[in-house]
Amino acid sequence: MKNSHLIKAAERFGTPLYVYDAQKIKQQFHRLKNAFNSIERLEIRYAVKALSNLNILNILKECGSGLDTVSIEEIKLGLHAGFDPKKIIFTPNGVCFTELEEAVSLGVQINIDNLNVLEKFGNNYPEVPVCLRINPHIMAGGNTNISVGHIDSKFGISIHQLPHILRIVANTKMNINGLHMHTGSDILDIGVFLQAAEILFDTAKHFKNLSFLDFGSGFKVAYGPNDIETDIENLGEKLSKRFIDFCESYGKKLALTFEPGKFLVSEAGYFVVKTNAIKQTTSTVFAQVDSGFNHFIRPMLYGAKHEIINISQPKNHKRFYSVVGYICETDTFANNQQISEINEGDYLAFKNAGAYCFSMASNYNSRLRPAEVMLYKKDLYLIREREKFEDLIDKQLIQALPE
Ligand SMILES: *Cc1c(COP(=O)(O)O)cnc(C)c1O
Repeated sequence: MKNSHLIKAAERFGTPLYVYDAQKIKQQFHRLKNAFNSIERLEIRYAVKALSNLNILNILKECGSGLDTVSIEEIKLGLHAGFDPKKIIFTPNGVCFTELEEAVSLGVQINIDNLNVLEKFGNNYPEVPVCLRINPHIMAGGNTNISVGHIDSKFGISIHQLPHILRIVANTKMNINGLHMHTGSDILDIGVFLQAAEILFDTAKHFKNLSFLDFGSGFKVAYGPNDIETDIENLGEKLSKRFIDFCESYGKKLALTFEPGKFLVSEAGYFVVKTNAIKQTTSTVFAQVDSGFNHFIRPMLYGAKHEIINISQPKNHKRFYSVVGYICETDTFANNQQISEINEGDYLAFKNAGAYCFSMASNYNSRLRPAEVMLYKKDLYLIREREKFEDLIDKQLIQALPE
C-alpha cells in the first residue's frame, strides 16, 4: 500500500482509521495455496477472529477459502457472508453444550476438544461427523498467551488420552471425520511443526473414516524489514511430501487443511493515527497520537512490536520516539523506535495491523471505535463507519429507580 493511499484515506475518513489492502490478502492466500500445490485436496479456512469484517470475509470467499470459527456469532457472520456451512469449521473451547447444538443445526463441521463433551456429543448426535482437536504437547509459538500446545494448555484433547478417545468412539459409534491440531501463533521452527504433524499422522491410523487432517495455523509473519517469518514454501515442500506418503499408507486421499488468520490478513492492514502532540521529558521524546490500546492492544497485551512510519513526512531524518496513546493508563505502542522526525499533526501508520487489531478494539475510556476502509483495485471503500456518541449509549437503559 502506498503512503499516498493511507493519507488519502485519513483525509477522507478521519483518524484513527484501519485500512486494509484486499490485494495483499489475495496474494497471501495464493502464496499458501501455491506452497501446497502438489496436494490435490487443500482446504484453507480463514480464522475469522483475526479480522471479521464482512467485506474481508467476502474477499476470502472469492479466493475459495472456508472459515475457522470459535463462536456461534462467528459462524453466523460466515453464513451471513454467504459461506457454505460445509466449509466452516467450529472449534470452540469451553462453550456451553447448547452452543454446539446450535452449530449442528447450522450444518457446520464440529471440532471437539474435550473428552466429556465428546462423550455427551457422541451419545446425543452419533450420526453427526466430528473432528477431534488433539493436543500433541509440542511447544510452539511466541508469547505464552498465544502458545496453546503445551502440557498446561486448556486446548485440545491430550494425545495421551487416545485410548479413552477410542473407547468413547467405539461405545457411541460416533463418526470421526477429521483430526485437528493448533499449537499456537508465531511458529518459526518448521521442524517443530513437522514433529507435531507426525503425531497427527500416528493418531490418524486409529480412525478409519477420516476425510481431512487439519494442521491449524500459527504461521509467523514479518513485523519489520529485518524480522523473520515462517518459511511457508519450505513447510509446503516438506509437509506435502509427508502428507502424500501418509495418504498412500492410509489408503485414501484426505484433504489437508489449514486455518490461518494472521498469515492471511496481518500485513494487509495499516492503522493510521494523527499526532496530537510531541512531549519531551527528561528521558524520552513522546509522540502522542489520537488512539490508545482501546483500538490497538497488541503491544500492551502480547509485547508485539509493530513498525510505525511517519507517512506525512517519510523523508525527515530519523529520531527515536516512544509512541503513546491518549488512554489514562500506560498505553505504549512503541518504545524507542526510530521514526522520521514527527511534528504535530503528522499521520503515522502502524504496520501489520490486519490481524487481531480491530477485532480486539474496545470502547475503553468511552472512546469510539475507528472506521475501517478497504483498498480494492486502487479505490478506497468505507467498510465500517466510525462509531458515534449514540453508539456508546444505545444499549444502555436508564432505569427509574424507586426512592
Ligand atoms: C486463532 C486460531 C487460528 C489462527 O491462528 P493464527 O496464528 O492467526 O494463524 C487457527 N485455529 C484456531 C483453532 C485458532 O484458535
